Amino acid sequence: MLESPTLTDQINALLPQTQCGQCSFPGCRPYAEAIASGAADINQCPPGGDEGIRDLADLLGIPAKPLNTKFGLHKPASVAFIIEQDCIGCVKCIAACPVDAIVGAAKFMHTVIAQECTGCELCIAPCPVDCIVMQPAPVGNAEQSRAQKSAQAKRRYDARCLRKEKEEAEKAERAKKKKQALLTMQEAKK
Ligand code: SF4
Ligand code: SF4
Ligand code: SF4
Repeated sequence: MLESPTLTDQINALLPQTQCGQCSFPGCRPYAEAIASGAADINQCPPGGDEGIRDLADLLGIPAKPLNTKFGLHKPASVAFIIEQDCIGCVKCIAACPVDAIVGAAKFMHTVIAQECTGCELCIAPCPVDCIVMQPAPVGNAEQSRAQKSAQAKRRYDARCLRKEKEEAEKAERAKKKKQALLTMQEAKK
């Protein structure tokens, strides 16, 4: 039997899922948890803007309020663009992107998949050569509804989290096997 969504789930479903951290929480779900527990206000998400605040207010049955600009300003949709001739292939942007919207390999130039980019800007600061700039989102992105964008970003973010968890588990397993092999070798030498 399917479990009914918690209040946190319902709030999280209304957030943009860029995981940008502007709300002062390390991602959309932690902010949703804070709203649900009364620890955060509903007007701290600049990417969601006034429409997002209205959705949250409707869900919670409370009055809407203006975006608290202490957390940032609502901006038009944008996507990251890599100036490829300047890219040194350090992969730092790939590590920073919450939705795996950047492709490239170590020492090769990288490219942003514009259709997948949420415009979170998290890849800009880690780039050591400042070759990532923000540009207006392509028409295809702008045509998507807020709900479609948020659902797509959440799918990709969840998939990335699962992949990272799997990689961590595999790394721990390799380290365990290496330790066991070393112990076996040491035992054999005795
Ligand atoms: S999109 Fe909004 S809720 Fe999600 S991390 Fe950014 S500011 Fe916070
Ligand atoms: S490419 Fe950059 S701006 Fe776009 S989603 Fe990834 S980290 Fe965010
Ligand atoms: S962080 Fe900058 S230099 Fe490094 S791979 Fe990404 S775009 Fe290229």
